[in-house]
Amino acid sequence: MDNTQPLGFSTRAVHAGDPERAVGAAVTNAVYQTSTFFSEPNGGGEVLYTRYGNNPNQLALQARIAALEGAPACLVVGSGMAAMTAAMLACLQAGDHLVAARALYGGTRTLLDREFARLGIRTTYVDFHDSEWASAFTDRTRAVLVETPTNPLLRIVDLRPIADECSRRGAPLIVDATFATPANFRPLEHGADVVVHSATKYLSGHSDVTAGAVAGRADLLDLALQRARILGAALDPHAAWLVERGIKTLAVRMERHNRNGMAVAEWCEQQPGIVRTHYPGLASHPDHALAARLFGGYGGMLGVELAGGDAATRFVRALRLAKLAPSLGGVETLVSEPRHTSHAGLSPAEREAVGIPDGFVRFSLGIEDAGDLIADIEQALAVARTP
Ligand SMILES: *Cc1c(COP(=O)(O)O)cnc(C)c1O
Repeated sequence: MDNTQPLGFSTRAVHAGDPERAVGAAVTNAVYQTSTFFSEPNGGGEVLYTRYGNNPNQLALQARIAALEGAPACLVVGSGMAAMTAAMLACLQAGDHLVAARALYGGTRTLLDREFARLGIRTTYVDFHDSEWASAFTDRTRAVLVETPTNPLLRIVDLRPIADECSRRGAPLIVDATFATPANFRPLEHGADVVVHSATKYLSGHSDVTAGAVAGRADLLDLALQRARILGAALDPHAAWLVERGIKTLAVRMERHNRNGMAVAEWCEQQPGIVRTHYPGLASHPDHALAARLFGGYGGMLGVELAGGDAATRFVRALRLAKLAPSLGGVETLVSEPRHTSHAGLSPAEREAVGIPDGFVRFSLGIEDAGDLIADIEQALAVARTP
């Protein structure tokens, strides 16, 4: 093998963080289901303790994710929210100001509005598609937070101008790229300092584990690790092992998610029972050109608008393959209505104003056969037509 050639994405997904090669050694990483490890006498050496984030399963998973993101350092923790908290606390303290995208995961929004606000960290929300976004910066701005693609409209932002403004001001750019995964988009290659993932979603990919990851600049990751240790955000070793196993198939799963996304979106766009289809792979999506330039694939998330809330309820109840459940990124297709989940805190008028009218249905398309997913949607649309 030519050692000078950089390994491809799929190869890294399968092999980065592998155990040492030795006769008789296990081919896969063992699960170190232990809270603690033998120490040096007299307190010498690094203390290994699972809450400290230096359990071998945590380290192996971190190496794998860092290799996929092209990150100098990575930290894995017990959930996506723990990852978000650790990333933000690496950058922010009392008195600091954050500029954040208005379209954010609900939990992140609550973290900023309720918890960080209480601790004296102020947030200004902006729409990064509005050319005036830079006016939100103040001389106290210490970080910028963006989610791309967003939930559930799948809006995509160009990170480069934001990253340029951030580096002029010395404020790290933090990007939640849970919906994209490193298979489709790697924010660090576009100027971001830190990328955050809910590994509960595509990275693990089987809807059977809760985990989070932060990857990026080594100095910030060092601070994130220090804070995660004290917050007690550690990822359980078995959960780390499950995420690691999931990542080995990330590239092939994402290929299928991307293909199913395109096939189902193109079909949905032709249906008279569907008012509007939101998918970045469609020319009708407002960020299609950006997605085509920046993304390796358009993903498995899809939004469709039905004639109203009642039609949406009849539709989701009638689906036989797709499961009505929150969350996303698993091998099975999940469906949800944002008005009852991510956007339940808004009034119908407020939802309408942000482009999510009642009748909006969000799909996390799995890796089933596209024809079966389409047939399921088709029969549910027929049911939804008749009150
Ligand atoms: C799910 C999700 C989170 C939170 O992750 P948990 O693993 O549920 O804590 C954060 N951001 C995005 C975009 C998500 O989809």
